[in-house]
Amino acid sequence: MQDKPIALVTGANQGIGLQIAKDLVSHGFIVLVGSRNLERGEAAAKEVGPDAHALQLDVTDRASIDAAAEHIRKQFGRLDVLINNAAISNTKKQPGQSVEEYAKTTRPSNVSFDEMRAVWDTNVFGVLAVYQAMLPLLRKASGARIVNVSSGVGSLTTNSDPDFVYRAIFGPVYPASKTALNALTVAMALELEPEGIKVNAISPGFTSTNLNGYAGTDTVEQGAREAVRVALLGPDSPTGTFTRWENSTIPW
Ligand code: NAP
Repeated sequence: MQDKPIALVTGANQGIGLQIAKDLVSHGFIVLVGSRNLERGEAAAKEVGPDAHALQLDVTDRASIDAAAEHIRKQFGRLDVLINNAAISNTKKQPGQSVEEYAKTTRPSNVSFDEMRAVWDTNVFGVLAVYQAMLPLLRKASGARIVNVSSGVGSLTTNSDPDFVYRAIFGPVYPASKTALNALTVAMALELEPEGIKVNAISPGFTSTNLNGYAGTDTVEQGAREAVRVALLGPDSPTGTFTRWENSTIPW
């Protein structure tokens, strides 16, 4: 039996997920570094240190998810923290195309269903599939919690404000996938409230990563900190929240 708490971070081979893995290890966790490419996961786990272990996990591949859950069950018998971090922003944005130009090609009137489905497969259905597979392991831990890495761009309230400067990029692909993730977060939190398993959504802020061509203005250390803060909260903390930082709630 492993005494240290066990965390799984999906999409942890680079970006914010990798930093979350580093931070959780520094807080005494054993971290499973989820990576759809095992070799890249192994390289990332090596970078994090001995308490990090690579785990092949493609959130769009049911067999991969089931094998990952079985591996955790055999190895540790439980899961204390699940960080649903893996996501993609698009599959069809052309090199050099700005976010604004891409948004014009993905309005409700002209969006490619293939593009929308591909992003929702990872960002929405992928999260739900991992949730379903990991829930029996989370139920074996005491005080387990789930952190869904969402984005402020998914806030319906913010995008309904005419003064919100980024509302022109709100569309069916990435932004609405995060709105749907927020809805799943509330549904999961309601389902697990009687069992005391907390489910919270967070936004990392605009972070320099591969997801946005390194255009983000925050560092990965800054991007990881809210997910880590929420992952470490105790049993008296709230469930079903959407936050940017302590006392900084984002409207749904
Ligand atoms: P990133 O550097 O591109 O990392 C995304 C990670 O997700 C990568 O490890 C990627 O794996 C993985 N991934 C993608 N599809 C996957 C799949 N099917 N199965 C498993 N893993 C998969 O981006 P990031 O910025 O760190 O993003 C982390 C989270 O923060 C995402 O949920 C994102 O939406 C959110 N977020 C980011 C920002 C920002 O400004 N960066 C802002 C708000 C929210 P590969 O390396 O194999 O591609």
